[in-house]
Amino acid sequence: MFDLGPRKPTTREIADRVKQGGSAALTEAERRADQARYQEVICRSALNRVQGMPFNWTLNPYRGCTHGCHYCFARRYHVQFELNTDDEFASVILVKRNFVDVLARQLDRPAWTRENIAFGTATDPYQPIEGHYKLTRGSIEALARARTPIGLITKGPMVVRDADVLQDLSRAAGCTIYMSVPTVDEEAWRILEPGTAHPLQRLRAVRQLVDAGINAGVLMAPIVPGFSSSRQKLERTVKAIADHGARFAGCNVMYLQDGTRTHFMKFMEREFPAMVPRYEKLYAKKYPPDAYRKEVQAMVKTLQDRYGLNPREHKEKTEAGLQEPEQVGFAWK
Ligand code: SF4
Repeated sequence: MFDLGPRKPTTREIADRVKQGGSAALTEAERRADQARYQEVICRSALNRVQGMPFNWTLNPYRGCTHGCHYCFARRYHVQFELNTDDEFASVILVKRNFVDVLARQLDRPAWTRENIAFGTATDPYQPIEGHYKLTRGSIEALARARTPIGLITKGPMVVRDADVLQDLSRAAGCTIYMSVPTVDEEAWRILEPGTAHPLQRLRAVRQLVDAGINAGVLMAPIVPGFSSSRQKLERTVKAIADHGARFAGCNVMYLQDGTRTHFMKFMEREFPAMVPRYEKLYAKKYPPDAYRKEVQAMVKTLQDRYGLNPREHKEKTEAGLQEPEQVGFAWK
């Protein structure tokens, strides 16, 4: 009676197609104005169990990300679909069409214990296509109904659109928004994060969320050596974060692993060949040496103290009757 259209492929079927014919085999993928292709898929599970992280569950309604940050640790996950970690990570996006329904069913199970969920670990849940599909919004509504707390990371100011449902979730279970703003330096932003909103636009979104009573702060992650690591750039960034009323700030130095490493080093060789020898030395392993990381972290800590973003000051404010803040040691990188 009703034409439901052809069944959407699963992510495994997509991987098989790409394996045989490259991304050109995705003939149903819709090309939109941003020149990215969007392939709808169906998922069997929305909740993803992880191990060895400070959280046990993740949620990612999309795979791939048109923000296209060159350092993105999620690039390496694209190879699971036989897609490459370079152009295809930012231009072939998998959209899990049935994500909200599947999530709602999983959250409804009596066995679900309402553990905290990390939202957006392998994609940005507020990349532009969310304006069309609203899978992130639908998920937050389902999470509020199921009284399940989340921490959500994004670079997308579109998160402000969902302040109403984030308020519902905050009341029902708890919710923290981690806005990723590695630096406010315009040159580093243009070079490293080509598809993202301006850093100050992201900070204005933090201000709006905090004003709406949502626990929102900033992750300066990743700090990229030679691009955003100078004391002067760190200070400008920490000051801007404080000026925009963020309730916390965390930081982390870039790490390079697997496909992300391959992509980033190719990018450096193409755009900044003179920096490559220093990078090869600094990144002989996945992380730069401890001494370097500690130096950067100590610098940020000093600046956090200076601009009132340290945990003790927040505690004093809390004891003075203000809302309880949260200092983040966000360790998923
Ligand atoms: S916004 Fe996040 S998920 Fe998207 S490319 Fe940048 S780092 Fe990766």
